Amino acid sequence: MVEIVRIPALSDNYIWLVHDAASGETMVVDPAEAEPVLAEAEARGWRITQIWNTHWHPDHTGGNAAIKAATGCRVTAPAAEAAKIPTLDRAVAEGDRVSLGAIEAVVMEVPAHTAGHIAYHLPSEELIFVGDTLFAMGCGRLFEGDAAQMHGNLQRLAALPPETAVYCAHEYTLANGRFALTVEPNNAALRERMAAVEAARAAGEATVPTTIALERATNPFMRASSAEELAQRRQAKDIFRG
Ligand code: ZN
Ligand code: FE
Repeated sequence: MVEIVRIPALSDNYIWLVHDAASGETMVVDPAEAEPVLAEAEARGWRITQIWNTHWHPDHTGGNAAIKAATGCRVTAPAAEAAKIPTLDRAVAEGDRVSLGAIEAVVMEVPAHTAGHIAYHLPSEELIFVGDTLFAMGCGRLFEGDAAQMHGNLQRLAALPPETAVYCAHEYTLANGRFALTVEPNNAALRERMAAVEAARAAGEATVPTTIALERATNPFMRASSAEELAQRRQAKDIFRG
């Protein structure tokens, strides 16, 4: 089993530092910035060997160059966004395998938030890094793609084993949940989850990772029955002030 450390960054980003004790490899998912990542790795005595990016946005790649300069690590990122990620060493696309020691991740293309957005699924660890595609009770904004693509992405993710842990890149849960309650005010699982989320946030605790099972039960975007319904909900969320 890998060891995963959550590093809060910028206003609401989470950077995931992933250590495989068997191989000694340490990998960073979507480093928004370098300093807190290098500090955390140093404190644990871990040497960073890889960066995996899910998409090109600066709050996911901003730390690439400095971490690479400090550690000589190798950067894996979406082939479709290679031109926007100049620190890239390996460009990957749908179905490609990426290794952390003996642990394998399968690349899934999940375009919509950005045109080349990817997720890294680690079946043996029962977890997935989804960047800004799926959030707790939410989904990414449709900056470079459309609702049909996002609907397809979320249905693919919903089909993963329900116990799969979902590591997303932002703490947006409270606002997402408030919107979700406007969509499904009588969803008992949602109401129960929101009570837990409100308590966690009031105590200053993080609410991610989530799981596929929890999202299937409470996420209004994953639960949208069609691309049209997802589009309608996404538009409503974009202007929601809860
Ligand atoms: Zn983004
Ligand atoms: Fe982001």
